[in-house]
Amino acid sequence: MRRILVVGGGYAGFYTAWKLEKRLRRDEAEIVVIDPRGYMTYQPFLPEVAAGSIEARHAAISLRSHLKRATLIHASVTSIDHAAKQVTVLPRDGEPFSMGYDIIVVTAGAVTRTFPIPGLAEHAIGMKHVEEAVAIRDRLLDAFERASVLPPGAERSRLLTVTFVGGGFSGVEGFGEVLSLASALLKSYQELRFSDLSFHLVEARNRILPEVTDKPGEWVVRSLVERGAQVHLGSQFLSAEGGHVVLSTGEEFDSHLIVWTAGNGANPVVAKHTDLPVDERGSLLTRADLRVGTDERPVTDAWAAGDDASIPDLASTVPGARTVPNAQHAVRQGTLLAANITATIRGGTPKDYIHHSLGVVATLGLGKGIFQYRRIVVTGFLAWVMHRGYHVLAIPTWERKTRVLLVWVSAFVFGRDIISLAEVQHPRRAFVDGGRIDDALQRAS
Ligand SMILES: Cc1cc2nc3c(=O)[nH]c(=O)nc-3n(C[C@H](O)[C@H](O)[C@H](O)COP(=O)(O)OP(=O)(O)OC[C@H]3O[C@@H](n4cnc5c(N)ncnc54)[C@H](O)[C@@H]3O)c2cc1C
Repeated sequence: MRRILVVGGGYAGFYTAWKLEKRLRRDEAEIVVIDPRGYMTYQPFLPEVAAGSIEARHAAISLRSHLKRATLIHASVTSIDHAAKQVTVLPRDGEPFSMGYDIIVVTAGAVTRTFPIPGLAEHAIGMKHVEEAVAIRDRLLDAFERASVLPPGAERSRLLTVTFVGGGFSGVEGFGEVLSLASALLKSYQELRFSDLSFHLVEARNRILPEVTDKPGEWVVRSLVERGAQVHLGSQFLSAEGGHVVLSTGEEFDSHLIVWTAGNGANPVVAKHTDLPVDERGSLLTRADLRVGTDERPVTDAWAAGDDASIPDLASTVPGARTVPNAQHAVRQGTLLAANITATIRGGTPKDYIHHSLGVVATLGLGKGIFQYRRIVVTGFLAWVMHRGYHVLAIPTWERKTRVLLVWVSAFVFGRDIISLAEVQHPRRAFVDGGRIDDALQRAS
């Protein structure tokens, strides 16, 4: 029986496998999904995970619970040799092994793009994965606890200084949500004042949110500034050595929490470890019907979708435009990909991908948001409701929708859950210390 191998079970890969399970008969193909994570991450919910408005687990969709037929392999693909129709698979434990396939679907997504900035690797954190969003939240909550027992001064200011780098969607959403959490936390900390907080959003360009037009972008900056944030436009992030932030404008400050959201980079496996054709940015050259290759030179039995694929945008009037890397496209491309693979297996013709944008919607913190569809702009509470409404409908499976909704309802009744579980990073500490005070003193020294 032919084997369809899906590399990456994120947005595009999960939808491809899920829909293939529904479309193909059992005797038509075996479906294999390889991903080092056992779940698809619903990334648009990560800012709300960071703010504690969504339970971390609910932003992850278990592959094993929802893919009933596919064989799931908990591992990374380290290379794709399409000429031999083999991938190299690296499991968490044991030796790497080769696996053959008949059809490959490459949906390995992108990675957070970083630069060799001093101190960045040591002090910053990304916001693309659930564990990063959880760590951001725990770090802020932990900082509040620590700052609340300190007198006013440099250390207290450092703990309460938060820096987000990157004014794209994920950066602005994360910044807005974490600012909203911090402002709300002050109610529970009599020792701290709003003036003790210092929130910085750093963006190299002169505007934020390239997905919206100029005026709504300016409105977002104004609304963040009105909420007490400092938005540094046209500012490059030069250094984070020792947790001390230096900007190209000459501004400097110590920051306990530094979140890097300055763009996507190509997945190295796709960019460097495959014989499939890639463009100059390291994305797979993909046709409008989602087959890898170009119109002149299609690659048989290789398909791609999502953030790792460069796909013609047939809905755009701009010549040569490619679809932008977002969830709106990844989901629809995954669904079409399953239909196209099924069609070709059965001797049919694949269809071209075409999707007209539904607009953009972003949260800016509890009760605040922005939506734009062409010239229609909605800001504030209504846009935030639209954001929640859209995403609770968009997150796959009724099981996940229900869980997310129940947490929102319980937060509406009881307020935010403000427990920090930062100590999960040291699960054996209490056990090993056994409450001994000398060990705690040694750690503090
Ligand atoms: C904070 C944040 C907020 C966002 N908000 C929005 C939004 O509001 N609206 C919107 O449209 N888009 C949003 N996006 C973008 C959107 O989430 C992505 O465009 C989408 O996830 C891309 O889907 P994908 O399947 O290509 O990649 P992913 O969903 O990233 O999936 C890739 C998968 O491949 C796996 N993988 C990686 N390397 C390998 C390997 N070597 N071997 C095997 N598996 C591998 C990964 O573990 C992952 O599971 C947001 C992104 C972020 C980070």
